[in-house]
Amino acid sequence: MEISLPQAAEMLHSANTIVLTAHVHPDGDSLGSMLALYAALQADGKKVCMLLDDVVPAMYHFLPNWKKISKPVDNDRFTPDLLVVLDASDIERIGKVQNIVKAPILNMDHHISNTKFADYYYIDSKVAATGEIILALLKLMKSNVTADIGTCLYTAIATDCGFFRYANTSAATLRDAADLVEAGAQPQCISEALEQRSIANLITLTKVLQTIETHHEGKIATMTILPDLLSDPDENTEGFINYARSIEGVEIAILFRAIDERTVRISFRSHRADVSQVALKFGGGGHIRAAGCTVHDTLENAMAQVLPVAVAQIR
Ligand code: 5GP
Ligand code: MN
Ligand code: MN
Repeated sequence: MEISLPQAAEMLHSANTIVLTAHVHPDGDSLGSMLALYAALQADGKKVCMLLDDVVPAMYHFLPNWKKISKPVDNDRFTPDLLVVLDASDIERIGKVQNIVKAPILNMDHHISNTKFADYYYIDSKVAATGEIILALLKLMKSNVTADIGTCLYTAIATDCGFFRYANTSAATLRDAADLVEAGAQPQCISEALEQRSIANLITLTKVLQTIETHHEGKIATMTILPDLLSDPDENTEGFINYARSIEGVEIAILFRAIDERTVRISFRSHRADVSQVALKFGGGGHIRAAGCTVHDTLENAMAQVLPVAVAQIR
């Protein structure tokens, strides 16, 4: 059932025990939104915990309370009053948490591809980040937006709009960011923490850059990552795809990351074309200009299937 933001605030107000979760392959928005809501609900005296079916990438270890995020194990069982699912557009995106927590689901999200899977959902695909929704929610709940909450929400918003450069950056996005800086978020510290990478990761980037190929008269650029290219399977390749999109004349950039012989993670970025439609055709989802999916096939077959669908999306 679709609900308004005041109704979402009311649901949180009347729940005593709350589990928060967010999508696997976590990013700044999913983590920042979850950590901000966690801090606000805790200050409100709620019994709240955060479950995430994935590891928190090292680049986000500057976020306050990240260590309180736990990874569920198979025989865990939780029966809170409410399960809040953040920044996730379908139930598969929360992994194991869907089987472990038995509770009504409240989903707060901004993906255009949202499947409306939750018992109660508030979806605003016009905002740049779920973090913008959480800030509006905290204002409605009259929560104190502390410096820590400011740091989490600034990270959520800034990462999802490419530090205020992408098409989803609105005047409201910038006003939200200003409010968060007033609350104590430090833009320079946050961007420095996120920009830092190991020398090994930089070398990985140089190798991935060498795999760039263009297709369809230079309108599509692909990058590929084979499993043995990464020294650590969890190595962060976020941001690599932006180099492919930055090539003059490229409309859609696609990163194919082979996890094993039969699993390929695919990321799409575009300037205008709706890549959420491409990702949806392969069981994934996302936004108009940033989307992703997983194809269970070889890298070669995945590329052969996905490329024509991407081409069809370019008008
Ligand atoms: P990324 O390429 O950074 O993994 O993802 C880009 C966007 O697409 C993000 O907003 C992310 O939430 C969404 N996305 C990525 N992979 C999937 C997927 O497998 N399923 C769905 N529903 N969305 C995805
Ligand atoms: Mn996200
Ligand atoms: Mn998001």
